[in-house]
Amino acid sequence: MAYGFDTLQIHAGARPDPATGARQTPIYQSTAYVFRDADHAAALFNLQEVGYIYSRLTNPTVAVLQERIATLEGGQGAVCCSSGHAAQIMALFPLMAPGRNVVASTRLYGGTITQFSQTIKRFGWSAKFVDFDDLDAVKAAIDDDTRAVFCEAVANPGGYITDLDAISAISDKAGVPLIVDNTSATPYLCRPIEHGATLVVHSTTKYLTGNGTVTGGCVVDSGNFDWSASDKFPSLSQPEPAYHGLKFHETFGPLAFTFHGIAIGLRDLGMTMNPQAAHYTLMGIETLSLRMDRHVQNALKVAEWLENDDRVAAVTYAGLPSSPYHDRVAKICPKGAGGLFTFSLKAGYEACVKFVDAVEIFSHVANLGDTRSLVIHSASTTHRQLTEDQQKAAGAAPDVVRVSIGIEDPADLIADLDQALAKACG
Ligand SMILES: *Cc1c(COP(=O)(O)O)cnc(C)c1O
Repeated sequence: MAYGFDTLQIHAGARPDPATGARQTPIYQSTAYVFRDADHAAALFNLQEVGYIYSRLTNPTVAVLQERIATLEGGQGAVCCSSGHAAQIMALFPLMAPGRNVVASTRLYGGTITQFSQTIKRFGWSAKFVDFDDLDAVKAAIDDDTRAVFCEAVANPGGYITDLDAISAISDKAGVPLIVDNTSATPYLCRPIEHGATLVVHSTTKYLTGNGTVTGGCVVDSGNFDWSASDKFPSLSQPEPAYHGLKFHETFGPLAFTFHGIAIGLRDLGMTMNPQAAHYTLMGIETLSLRMDRHVQNALKVAEWLENDDRVAAVTYAGLPSSPYHDRVAKICPKGAGGLFTFSLKAGYEACVKFVDAVEIFSHVANLGDTRSLVIHSASTTHRQLTEDQQKAAGAAPDVVRVSIGIEDPADLIADLDQALAKACG
């Protein structure tokens, strides 16, 4: 029987502890696991038997979280890692090589734009940034060296929803995987695999954990991509020299990417999630749907209020009928456009800076997806390292404030914004 989302967010991957009957998933705070005998050890190292060796690779608490997120996303397998940014590297690593590129949306989390435009160059990889509303430009950007297409479902800093069906049709035709960062939407609001995504990445730091306690990331594999259809993905389709010539796709089929992520990605890059972090995230996920419904309801109320306020120039929340992306909500994220959006102040940059200092319930922090309402002026913080053109393309122009609407009483949130706007705009 297929369980519903609310049941799976509590039960998927978890079972009472076989040794003690403990109902909540224990934190297996152990680095290593005793082999039954030398043959068992050899079978584990040969990937002939699945089990625990060493917690850089696998840990029983982390494994429960991996199975839970994979189930909620409708994927075949998942690998958790130490942060959302680690997840992005873990997703690209098996696909890329020096000289290869990723075609990425201009509308991304600021940190991702920096990671892709600067840091990955050290590996000899590069990114081509394209407006993902311009489908011809996306098609034109994909060349013989492209090994992935990357976008966010509901893009940070908010207000933009990617037409995943249109993008996946293009990536499919080109024979390259589509990677979707589903951090802002979560699998409750959006299921990218149903829209053709090959891989889904998460910063579990945000809504999945939900209350701003730990950093973590996850890569979910749909299991749908044929890595052997071309010679573009030799790490998966050809003998992998980093694992004594094992052919991952031939051996593991739809779990090839997941096994590669553990056996090579975590083994050699070491960006492991620790069991404490997995525990906090498992606790958070149990209430994901309840929180997301409330985030969405509150975000809509606050966005409507701001849109009608004279001090506000514009509000970019895709849940508002005025949004150019409103049509995509029903198709891509039918349960709502998330809790994240931006608004701009008529009084400009200086007023934005005053505004973030004047809020009381809202916290001025570089985070999102917390039970608490959060605010940031992206242009002077998270998107500071970008040029003004990049800031504008990413929806973080100098007169723009980003909010992550929490699950507090919406009347209190509106009252707080009202008093802060009064101080900022005079
Ligand atoms: C926060 C975030 C990331 C990076 O995740 P970390 O856990 O901070 O490394 C990536 N993508 C999006 C959309 C994010 O919001």
